[in-house]
Amino acid sequence: MTEETIFSKIIRREVPADIVYQDDEVTAFRDINPQAPVHILVVPNRRIVMASTVEDDDRDVLGRLFLVARQVAEQEGLGKGYRLIVNSGEHAHMEVPHLHVHLLGGEPLGPLLCR
Ligand code: 5GP
Repeated sequence: MTEETIFSKIIRREVPADIVYQDDEVTAFRDINPQAPVHILVVPNRRIVMASTVEDDDRDVLGRLFLVARQVAEQEGLGKGYRLIVNSGEHAHMEVPHLHVHLLGGEPLGPLLCR
């Protein structure tokens, strides 16, 4: 889990992505395989592997992920609601080991699918 992922290259703009928000700490870009009309990933620029590895020093940037998610949701017109999902580890089907918040919306999503 020491290797960086494709997300670091997206953050550095070395590979293309539809970036909808970026600052010194956080980047948000559209998911390449959207599961809803709006599907955006909100990620810390400095790699944190996953929710199960967060540390005290990550506290500020973790808060920023929610603030950016709120701002992007407003930008995207998700006033009727949206879903934030964080997968962590194998049983959660986490594919990219760089912590990310899925922001999903744009239509009624139905109950949370767990299995
Ligand atoms: P996870 O299953 O790890 O929570 O979600 C990883 C997400 O990253 C998936 O929804 C997948 O479609 C998305 N993803 C994987 N590779 C890329 C990529 O190269 N570009 C973009 N924009 N999204 C990606």
